[in-house]
Amino acid sequence: MTSANRPEGGEVRRALTDLAVDGFGELAALPDAKSFTPTQIRDWVFAKGARSFDEMTNLSKPLRAALAASWTVRSGTLEKRHASKDGTVGLLTRLHDGHVIESVSIPEGDRHTLCISSQVGCAVACAFCASGLDGVIRNLSSGEIVEQVLVARELSEQPLTNYVFMGSGEPTHNWKAVEASIATLTHPDGLGIGARRITVSTIGHPAALRKMVETEIPFNVALSVHVGDDAEREALMPGLGTSDLAATLAAARERFDATGRRLTAEVVVLAGVNDTDRHARLLADVVAGHPCAVNLIPWNPVDGLDFTPPAPARIDAMVEILTRAGVTTTVRRPRGQDVGVACGQLRRRELRG
Ligand code: SF4
Repeated sequence: MTSANRPEGGEVRRALTDLAVDGFGELAALPDAKSFTPTQIRDWVFAKGARSFDEMTNLSKPLRAALAASWTVRSGTLEKRHASKDGTVGLLTRLHDGHVIESVSIPEGDRHTLCISSQVGCAVACAFCASGLDGVIRNLSSGEIVEQVLVARELSEQPLTNYVFMGSGEPTHNWKAVEASIATLTHPDGLGIGARRITVSTIGHPAALRKMVETEIPFNVALSVHVGDDAEREALMPGLGTSDLAATLAAARERFDATGRRLTAEVVVLAGVNDTDRHARLLADVVAGHPCAVNLIPWNPVDGLDFTPPAPARIDAMVEILTRAGVTTTVRRPRGQDVGVACGQLRRRELRG
């Protein structure tokens, strides 16, 4: 295959976006490079968002040619942009090996949130989600994650304010790259995004949450709880393995103690599956005593999946039960339904042609 990273018959070229902020030093060895060249290139890639070497006008032509022989600036190519009537925009990116990923930007009042993918597909295979229908294909590199932000920034009329790892993939299944991408996104010499504006949404295996305690970057964590009962949760999320919500909440609490960042329990609500009063009470029991708010997300229909969004009255009843139990509860409005931006759906439509 010919791609930005592999010209016909040539060697695979690395993408500069994959380098850590302090990893550009190796570029000082390029012909015609000066001691300050790595910093100049890093600024072009992250701060100025250059897409080609031609834009790097303060580098000499021989240096640009030497760079282009073994590097690309970015590895993915934006393929499609789907704009919804409500302002939600889905972005489909073709990766260097032909796979496709999606990111979704969601404007709402003063907030403009970018939903980022961390894997091609997902191994958790939640019954209600398009991303996991074909399992996981591969992990994204840190550069492929950072590029989603660079591209969305370029295309957004309203500045992005929040960044959530809630697209395709389970971030803790690709933690090394996700952590590296967050380091680049938050570093002042990277994209300079405040860590508090970044949320990692995870199924919350206790060991993975403990690993997050080790990272000093104070991003937010959202737990994909969906159901307050372990057996029902395992049935809804087959790739999860054993569910132990009590252990998950305890491990998440350790991270809260280390960072002071509040937790959110995310619940995709499906009619007749997890929208009863009993389910609301189970959720209240699970989060009781933890610094954890609940976010109810009425299911966004996905082609070919046999679920129904919950009736507004059921959401109201759940909110009331949770609130009476002292749990801060929010409801996310469904967005982008006219262009089908439910998690993984754009990618799936693209694959199906
Ligand atoms: S909802 Fe999240 S964890 Fe579940 S299959 Fe989709 S991407 Fe994976």
